[in-house]
Amino acid sequence: MRRLFLLSVVLPALALALLGLVLLGAFAKQMETSVEKERIRSAEGVAQAQTFVWRGLLDLRLDRIAAQTDEAALVDHLRALVDADPLVRNAFLWRKGEGCVWPRSAGCNETERDFLQRYRPLFSGAVPWTPPDSPSRNEGEGSGDIQTRGYRPWASGDRADLLAWVRNPDGSIAGFEVESVRILADAEQGHREADEANAARRTSRKGFASEIRDASGRVLVPAVRPVSGNVPFGESSLAPLFPQWRLRVYGTDESAAGYARLFVALAAVLLGLLLCSLVAGGALLLRAARKERLDALRKTEFVSNVSHELRTPLTSIRMFADLLSSGRLSNDEDRRKALETISSESARLSRLVEGVLDFSRLERNRRRYAIEQIDLIEFVQNMVGVRPDGPAVAALADRDAVKQILTNLLDNAAKYAPGAPPEIIVRESGNGLVLLDVLDRGPGVPPHARKRIFERFYRADNSATREIGGNGLGLSIARGLARGMGGDLVYTPRPGGGSIFTLSLPPA
Ligand code: ADP
Repeated sequence: MRRLFLLSVVLPALALALLGLVLLGAFAKQMETSVEKERIRSAEGVAQAQTFVWRGLLDLRLDRIAAQTDEAALVDHLRALVDADPLVRNAFLWRKGEGCVWPRSAGCNETERDFLQRYRPLFSGAVPWTPPDSPSRNEGEGSGDIQTRGYRPWASGDRADLLAWVRNPDGSIAGFEVESVRILADAEQGHREADEANAARRTSRKGFASEIRDASGRVLVPAVRPVSGNVPFGESSLAPLFPQWRLRVYGTDESAAGYARLFVALAAVLLGLLLCSLVAGGALLLRAARKERLDALRKTEFVSNVSHELRTPLTSIRMFADLLSSGRLSNDEDRRKALETISSESARLSRLVEGVLDFSRLERNRRRYAIEQIDLIEFVQNMVGVRPDGPAVAALADRDAVKQILTNLLDNAAKYAPGAPPEIIVRESGNGLVLLDVLDRGPGVPPHARKRIFERFYRADNSATREIGGNGLGLSIARGLARGMGGDLVYTPRPGGGSIFTLSLPPA
C-alpha cells in the first residue's frame, strides 16, 4: 500500500514539482531577458530621439551654408557663424588638393591654428570625409557614391568633437565644428522640457530620467531629477553623432520585471499548494483504505466472536435441557438449578442478540429516544440496589438507553475488574452537564488503546481480553447511545489504578 502510494502519488508529484520549477525558472529567465531587451530598446529609442533633435539643429545650419551662391558670400557666412552662432565653434572651407581654403594656416589666429592642427589628417586628405564604415554614408541626396552632406565624429585625446559638412556643387566642402558644450546644454534643456511634459501628462512624477556620460563614465548632462531611487534602465551609445558618449536611462522599477517576479512567486506558491493537496489527498486516501481494511478485519473477528458468544450459552442450555429431558436429574434441587441455568443463559443469549440488534440500529441511525426527566440517584439505586454518592440531580435522557449504558459499564467492570464492585458517583460538571462516573480498580486501559476502546469491534488486545468473552461492541454502543441523547461517554485512567468511565447527560 505504501509502495503504491509512493509510486502513484509522491513520485509523480515530485516529478511534477521538479518540472514546474524548471519551467518556472526558464519562464522567469525568458521574461527577464525580454524585459532586459525592452529596456535596452527603450534606451536606444531615447538615444535616437536625442540624435534626431541634434541632427535637426545641425541640418538647419548646413542648409544655410549650402544656400550660399559664391565663395565670398560663403566665407562671410562661415565667419558670421563662428562669431555669432553659439552652436558653432569653428568653420571651414576645404578644397581637394588645396586643403583648407578658409581659414588658411598662413595668417590665422590661435584658435584657428589649433582647429586646423586637430583636424590635420582630414584636411590633408589622409583620411576620407566619410569613413568607409560610417553609418551616415547614405546621407543626403547626392548622386551615386558622392555624398553631399555628412557628420564626422572626431575623437582627439579625451575630447569628442563633431564636424558637420556639405559638399558644394564645385566639389569643395564647407562646414563647421560643433560646440559640444553648447549642444550638451541644449540636450539638458531638452530633457527638462520632456520631463515637464511628462509630469503634466501624468499624476505621478515617476517615469524616466536620462543622463549623458562620456567614455570614461563622467556625467556630461545629469538627469533632470534625482535618480537615486531609480534603477539604471538601459544604456545606448549616441552614435553616429557622438559615438563616444552614452545615454543612460533610469526608471522606477515598477516595470515588467517586478510583475514577472511577482508572477513567478505566485505560480510557485500555487504549485506548492497543488503538490501539498496532492500528497495530502493521497495520504488521506491511504488512511481511509487502511481503516477500511482494519474495519473488515474487525468485522470478521466480530462474527467469530459473536458466534463464540452465542455458542457458549447455547451449549449449556442444550446440555441442561438434555439432562432434564433424559430424566437423569433425580432430585428437585438439581432440576431447579438446571432450569435456573437455562433461564439465565437464555437471558444472556437474548442480551447478546439485543446488543447486536442495538448496534445495527445505532449504525443505521434508527434508534429513537424517549427523553424524559430522570433523577439519576434514584435511577441508579433502583438499578443496582445501592444509593450512589452525589447530589440529587436530574438529567434529560431515555431510561432504556441510560440503563443499557450503565449495564454495559457494570458488565465491563465485572469482567475486567472482578475484584471489588465498582463505585458509582453522580455529580454536576462545571458547564452544567450531569455526570455519572463508574469507577473500578481493575487493570485500566493501556494508553495506546484509550481512544480506540470506543471504536466498534475494538478490543484491547491482551491476554485478559482474550480470555474474557466480548465482541468489542459494548462501549461503542454505549457511546453511541450517550451521544444520541446529547451527552457523551469518556474514559479516564483512575489515579491509583483502575478505570473511570464518565457518562455525561444534558441537565433537566
Ligand atoms: P468487550 O467488552 O466486548 O470487549 P467493549 O466495547 O465493552 O467490548 O470494551 C472494549 C474494550 O475496552 C475491552 O475489550 C477492554 O479491553 C476495554 N475495557 C472496557 N471496560 C474496561 C474496564 N472497566 N477495565 C479495563 N478495560 C476495559
